[in-house]
Amino acid sequence: MAGIGTLEQILKLTRAFDITVYGAEPYPNYNRIQLSYVLEGSKTVQDIIMNDRSWYEENGISLHTGASITRIDTSDKRVYTAEGESADYDVLILATGSKPFVLPVPGADKEGVIGFRDIADCNTMIEASKSFKKAAVIGGGLLGLEAAKGLVQLGMDTTVVHLFDTLMERQLDAVSAGMLKAELERQGIKFAMGKKTVALTGEDRVTGLRFQDGSELEADLVVMAAGIVPNAELAKASGIETKRGILVDDFLQTSVPDVYAVGECCEHRGVCYGLVAPLYEQGTVLAKKIAAVETAPYTGSSVSTKLKISGVDVFSAGEFAETEKHRVLRNHDDWKGTYKKVLLEGNRIVGAVLYGDVTDSALLARSIREGKNMTDDLYSELFGGGGCCEGKAKSTGVEAMADEEIVCGCNGVTKGAIVKGIREEGWDSVERIKACTGATRSCGGCKPLVEQLLQYTLGEKFDGAAAKKTGICGCTTLGRDEIVATIREKRLTHVREVMHVLGWNEPEGCSKCRPAINYYLGMIWPKEHEDEKDSRFVNERLHGNIQKDSTFSVIPRMYGGVTSPDELRKIADVADKYDVKMVKVTGGQRLDLLGVKKEDLPAIWADLGMPSGYGYAKSLRTVKTCVGSQFCRFGTQDSISMGMELEHRYERLWMPAKFKMAVNGCPRNCAESGTKDIGIVGNDGGWEIFVGGNGGIKLRGADSLCKVKTDEDLIDICDAFIQYYRENANYAERTSDFVERVGLESVRQAVVEDKIGRVKLIGKLDEALDGLRDPWQEVVQDEEVRLKLYRPVTAGK
Ligand SMILES: Cc1cc2nc3c(=O)[nH]c(=O)nc-3n(C[C@H](O)[C@H](O)[C@H](O)COP(=O)(O)OP(=O)(O)OC[C@H]3O[C@@H](n4cnc5c(N)ncnc54)[C@H](O)[C@@H]3O)c2cc1C
Ligand code: SF4
Repeated sequence: MAGIGTLEQILKLTRAFDITVYGAEPYPNYNRIQLSYVLEGSKTVQDIIMNDRSWYEENGISLHTGASITRIDTSDKRVYTAEGESADYDVLILATGSKPFVLPVPGADKEGVIGFRDIADCNTMIEASKSFKKAAVIGGGLLGLEAAKGLVQLGMDTTVVHLFDTLMERQLDAVSAGMLKAELERQGIKFAMGKKTVALTGEDRVTGLRFQDGSELEADLVVMAAGIVPNAELAKASGIETKRGILVDDFLQTSVPDVYAVGECCEHRGVCYGLVAPLYEQGTVLAKKIAAVETAPYTGSSVSTKLKISGVDVFSAGEFAETEKHRVLRNHDDWKGTYKKVLLEGNRIVGAVLYGDVTDSALLARSIREGKNMTDDLYSELFGGGGCCEGKAKSTGVEAMADEEIVCGCNGVTKGAIVKGIREEGWDSVERIKACTGATRSCGGCKPLVEQLLQYTLGEKFDGAAAKKTGICGCTTLGRDEIVATIREKRLTHVREVMHVLGWNEPEGCSKCRPAINYYLGMIWPKEHEDEKDSRFVNERLHGNIQKDSTFSVIPRMYGGVTSPDELRKIADVADKYDVKMVKVTGGQRLDLLGVKKEDLPAIWADLGMPSGYGYAKSLRTVKTCVGSQFCRFGTQDSISMGMELEHRYERLWMPAKFKMAVNGCPRNCAESGTKDIGIVGNDGGWEIFVGGNGGIKLRGADSLCKVKTDEDLIDICDAFIQYYRENANYAERTSDFVERVGLESVRQAVVEDKIGRVKLIGKLDEALDGLRDPWQEVVQDEEVRLKLYRPVTAGK
């Protein structure tokens, strides 16, 4: 997070560098904070990717994922990967983060013992939950509790084992920790408090924990969440000074010239941080230093903590354990389940703990950071006239914040930046501020503060409802239906025109709205609209699927999964000639040529002479077929011929999202219709049509839409369903979500019952199908496009 956060800052200041990024994990940078959401299943890996591969491509950054740097030659200024690749540098930033601290106890290396640090750990936990029942999490801190909650959500019987008698003992006092424990027990987490783990038992795989007092706990999965260790070995082995972390000065410079370190891996003034807010503060200073822009030094960060478990509001900042030197202001309400404690040293506010109601967290965090004194006004603001949260109406306190104060600690966004945007750029909603600055994007803890800033800056003009209204992205508060209606009504034809007429906040739009508007325009005006390549994602712009090593995959179309010796020979020849790394049979019955260099794509397509299989696009992917009546002794319908006919008919048609079909010759359903957008099953009297299936992240069985007797009726219903979906779905909405959102009955009414409406839908689909051309052949024939899009990227150019 710190590395790419710094790069984003550098790119705002200068484009002078050729940038290369090496990351040991197989993904582009993602929001590690949100791993708990991936674990509990409320977000996917894709949801938490912060900059996808196209961002790197667009910024001329050469990204190498799954590539660990194992050696730095600081005299030659060169880094080496485990795989033997190397690259030279003028400036090197180390942002290697931390790793989980593994308790040095016998059995810690057994199968089933992991940390909670990355996507691989989440996947291990998710997999384990399918086969095993009992989990233990060692560590009752922030990370351990989030891991435990995720495991409970996955159905595991989970116990948090903690060395101390109270949870989060470095942030909470005994009272708030007790309230937290009671709430988490209510949510299904078990606790073994005051237990020192001395061994992990089992043969190859862990089966339990043994404690110092002789007692034991059964567990088939053990998550170590007992702290983190900065990843400083690489730097140390390369002659860079380290202690606990990589030693840096106030400009993030290490002991070696031109080598900097940022994030959890570094140690600044004796402190290694383990939260994101400091990393962004460090990154801002480092970016300016590298871009040769004047900057104040980094002098350290004041941190506060928030737990991301739903139903649990906890906040802690500064000192929390009272001693003789403290004066204590406290309000504990067992009825409301709230607790507020503020510690003073003399009159100065030095720490606070909130439980149950954290609305004052920003005010308190700021007061502690600035070393403010308690005053009568502040006291009544915090404690009111009576119990917790009662008393006089509160001022939000944002007016007192200095401009350079950080509002969103996760993304390093200041009050000044937000207020300036509200005043000068017309930002009028949380969504818009999120899109323009990143504030609220990560843990979401600053959302109330952002709303307060909107209210404070806009005064009477502030419209609370509009501020919360969610548009298709942060550039607008308008939803899909309003946009589509205006495009029709005002006959808008270009992406920029739509953004201009509808008063987009960002004149250039963003990667979320531009492809969506481009799709809506093409859907509404199939004949007039000229596809806007700049508004497409990199895969659709380049007509290939970008892979983790920045090579591409090539999937030629094989109608109905049927091929011929001639086609196979062509594919084999191409694979040899262009040194294709792997030829793989896909789940959709096609052949995938993997590891193709971008600059080879046009020549491969020319040599293949086969149409694009659109394996990269929001369009028809495959029509999977079973053997059917042509060969199968159970087959009642000719599924292969029907599949091929449908694939010929809908190929290249732009859809809101990727679209998969299957055709089966009988109800044995060998081609798996139940998980397709349209699944067709042959029977004695004709066909049954299923819609809205999905076999991906969100598994959903398709619903039976209707039965038809003839092939013509089958194609009519497919036509009508596809067009109905094209016209009414949100961009990027799969049919599984669409059918659930609008309801199967509405779909049936529009596609099956309303015969006149059906004819209209088919007519509009025919218009859309008319004149679609193969993109690969267009590229082969257009030299200008080839030169523009398929030249190799040189980083920074
Ligand atoms: C589950 C979880 C929840 C969290 N929740 C919060 C929260 O709510 N609030 C908060 O403030 N913080 C939270 N954190 C902490 C926060 O995620 C970290 O502070 C932050 O990710 C640190 O950023 P970083 O860039 O220093 O390290 P990282 O994000 O760990 O990035 C370092 C990257 O460098 C790679 N790397 C290491 N060595 C090499 C090498 N030799 N070659 C190539 N690549 C290498 C690593 O694989 C890793 O991908 C959480 C962390 C976790 C794990
Ligand atoms: S679905 Fe029926 S017809 Fe098709 S292969 Fe299976 S058994 Fe044969």
